[in-house]
Amino acid sequence: MEGEFHADMGPQYEGEAIRKEDLYIEFGGPKAAHKFELATVKSLDEIENEKVEIIGPDIGDLKPYDEEKGGGSYPIAVLIDVAGGELDKDAEAIIERRIHMFTNMIEGWYHMNQRQDVWMRISKDCYKKGFNSLRELGEIYILLYTSEMPIIESIQVTIITDEKKIEELLPHALEVYAARDERARTLNDEDVDTFYGCVLCQSFAPTHISIITPNRIANCGAINWFDGRAAAKIDPDGPIFAVPKGELIDAIKGEYSGVNTIEAEKSLGNYDRVYLYSAFEHPHTSCGCFEAIVYYIPETDAFGVVHREFKGETVVGETFSHMAGETSGGKQIEGRLGTGLEQLRSSKFIQADGGLARIVWMPKELKERFKDVLEKKELYDKIATEEDVKNVDELLEFLEKVGHPWIKGEVELPT
Ligand code: SF4
Repeated sequence: MEGEFHADMGPQYEGEAIRKEDLYIEFGGPKAAHKFELATVKSLDEIENEKVEIIGPDIGDLKPYDEEKGGGSYPIAVLIDVAGGELDKDAEAIIERRIHMFTNMIEGWYHMNQRQDVWMRISKDCYKKGFNSLRELGEIYILLYTSEMPIIESIQVTIITDEKKIEELLPHALEVYAARDERARTLNDEDVDTFYGCVLCQSFAPTHISIITPNRIANCGAINWFDGRAAAKIDPDGPIFAVPKGELIDAIKGEYSGVNTIEAEKSLGNYDRVYLYSAFEHPHTSCGCFEAIVYYIPETDAFGVVHREFKGETVVGETFSHMAGETSGGKQIEGRLGTGLEQLRSSKFIQADGGLARIVWMPKELKERFKDVLEKKELYDKIATEEDVKNVDELLEFLEKVGHPWIKGEVELPT
């Protein structure tokens, strides 16, 4: 695909990473305090078709990354407003997630993560070729959305780099994400015949397929079962598709014949079994967009959880990014699960392994975020954070002292 743009486009560029030495500038990512992307379905009269608006400094106005001085990281918000007779609110998450794919289809652009964690990079080569305005990015989005999703009749794109404005709009975006997650909590895997699969991240992790069920949000945290259903309906030949559950092989570990079949097909034969509710034996694969990592700590025979925003060292002395390098790539790794954070609320979260009651460490920020569910399970005071312990020896002491139910042998594994 080639147009009047300063960059070529096509699926061949998905999977292209931009390392520091090739980096011109980045938006979002760990160094930007405020960032998000949001798609909203509106009525036709609320949208000025094909309008692109840039609020704040543009690429050409911003200082690039400097190998010695650093810098070059800026806040961003990408707002995609769409309308169409067949479109409803269910489609929003799916349209939003396409930002990931479409950005990565541009030569010299890189997109990672989602929602309030979005991270975009532009290469030096791309800038040198004349790609110096976010307006061009907006125009490319419009071209790709309208050509790949004919259900969209009208679209406008707003890209914001003005930090104050982003800060002002972010709470609304967080509310929208929370409402999507809340809705998905009303359903269980037993209630449906169909799960959904997503292979959007195969450009970076060729053997990865996300299995999305009512009790299991996608690894990126951006697609729940309702979103999967909407995506498969809108674009049946797209990267998100229906997965007939098939027969239930193991209700505790979460093994379904239909999931195994699709896993074998989409992982190019690398894997033919998946346990949806366990981190052992045949755990779900992990791409690179996961919001958090659940990791086994052998000394405690239990798990820690660390999320992407946590910048310090975990209790095993590794940072999230170090651990992510070992966890990603689309492999099944026993004792390691890339996961969506909403999973911590799922009644089936590693249920075969003991569930939340087998978590012994998480960052303080995460513990506060999930305080309600941890308190309900009487685990809030039992889980250590970076403020309580610095290493595994201290963790063991802490767990003994507080009487963590897993360490005390009070957690019975389901049989
Ligand atoms: S993490 Fe999974 S669900 Fe999310 S975009 Fe990637 S493949 Fe799709």
